[in-house]
Amino acid sequence: VKIALKRGSLAQQGRNNAGRIESIMDLKNALKKLNELETASYALRHAMSVLYVDGDTVAPKNSWKGRGASLGYLSELSYRQMVNDETGEALSVILAHPDEVTPMQFRQAEVLKEEYDDMHVVPMNEFVEYQKLVNEANAVWHEAKEKSDFPLFAPLLEKLIAFQFRFAELKGKGQKKTYDVLLDSYEKGACMADLDPFFNSIQKDLTPLILEIAKKPPIGMDFARFTWPIEQQRRFSERIMAMEGLNPDNCTLGETEHPFTDGVNKWDVRITTHYHEENALESMFSVIHEGGHALYELGVADELQFTSLGMGSTMGIHESQSRFFENLICRSRAFCKPLLRVMREIFPEQMAGVSEEELYAGVNRSHPSLIRTQADELTYPLHVMIRYEIEKAIFEGILKVNELPGVWNDLYHKYLGVTVPDDRRGILQDSHWSGGSFGYFPSYALGSAYGVQMLRRMEGDLDVWGIVATGDLRPINAWLDEKVHRFGKLKKPADILLNAMGGPLDPSVYTHYLQEKYSDLYGISL
Ligand code: ZN
Repeated sequence: VKIALKRGSLAQQGRNNAGRIESIMDLKNALKKLNELETASYALRHAMSVLYVDGDTVAPKNSWKGRGASLGYLSELSYRQMVNDETGEALSVILAHPDEVTPMQFRQAEVLKEEYDDMHVVPMNEFVEYQKLVNEANAVWHEAKEKSDFPLFAPLLEKLIAFQFRFAELKGKGQKKTYDVLLDSYEKGACMADLDPFFNSIQKDLTPLILEIAKKPPIGMDFARFTWPIEQQRRFSERIMAMEGLNPDNCTLGETEHPFTDGVNKWDVRITTHYHEENALESMFSVIHEGGHALYELGVADELQFTSLGMGSTMGIHESQSRFFENLICRSRAFCKPLLRVMREIFPEQMAGVSEEELYAGVNRSHPSLIRTQADELTYPLHVMIRYEIEKAIFEGILKVNELPGVWNDLYHKYLGVTVPDDRRGILQDSHWSGGSFGYFPSYALGSAYGVQMLRRMEGDLDVWGIVATGDLRPINAWLDEKVHRFGKLKKPADILLNAMGGPLDPSVYTHYLQEKYSDLYGISL
């Protein structure tokens, strides 16, 4: 099957019946074009990624002014690389020859075509203008958060939202609701029709337990009673990374305001954390969480590297891996045994006389709080649900930017019973919106739910808790490599999930897990 498409090159031009200039690219040239595109896209991704990591770690504060120009040019290059008639044609030619190309080539074309379809509807000047806006918004958000000054950030947020409306309309061709377009870009197939019942069941199943626990006295070890010197915490991070099975030759740890993971390829993954002297737990769980993201990137098969398939699948699947280690494994009773051993070694004074059971209760202390990233496992999904409701209202056009702080505070009071004292600990706490990520938050809750279903499946294959109690988590990681990591984007997200979970998403598996764990911890009979 040959398909004819418009193309710029004069060499193969002919005229069709309607007299329009048409041409046919053969499969050989299409595959050559695919390789060129992959090489260039990888190099550009690499360059932008390093600029971004540098900007967030060691570069001086005002460096954003110069970085904007470079990032602007590089994004323009990546746009031109992707959006041109030749690319569109080459991808279509490959997709029309499923039997004559390898499954990998076919999937590369499929993934790139999705990207092409999303990008080519956006005019280049708008694309570049948007990239510059994001760079500026990020810097302004940092300052606004520091000063707890929402009005400073509001005009940029308004512009970012306007861009989202415009891009979603172009991408969805007016057929889909704006927020559904945004959700789908982080979690393929996610939509409000599925997420509304998902969050409803979370709220219905967990709220009574959360309120019951809020009435109980705090349990377990009180970490805030001590000081945890940063130098000791740095050594602790190294030990935690080793237990998780992260190879320091392929993965390094930096320090930033907000922890993140940036994977360039499987031999170069950067994770970051933030140390707090008054609390060693927060950084420990950040290292474990970002380490889970890193393990995913580090586990992608060699043959997929430097291509559009050489990275983790959807954001929800990514979060399933990070939250798997953070909560299911490292907040388990079994992990407290090796954890206590390491903590006693590094923090002998602070950990003197602490038992495994006190540590277990301490790392799982639940109480409704203000900050999502510091929330316990039980209240966490409600933080996500609040953001979901707000984003939904923004993109249904019923919520204006200046109303956001008030609505945020009301919802925190309604679902978590807490009073938000200022915007720094309220609407300004997350970096996502300043980076243009709207529709991202639900993937945290979805990822948590996916993870529990993977765990249930893993328990059928491995002596999970016996392994965890040794403190060497590599066999856990090997199972995840086998079921999830190695595929990168080679398999479709739905197939990866089915393969790892053994069935479709069922929120009750997730809520039952939480009900069981927390009713046991707090001695509540449900
Ligand atoms: Zn994460």
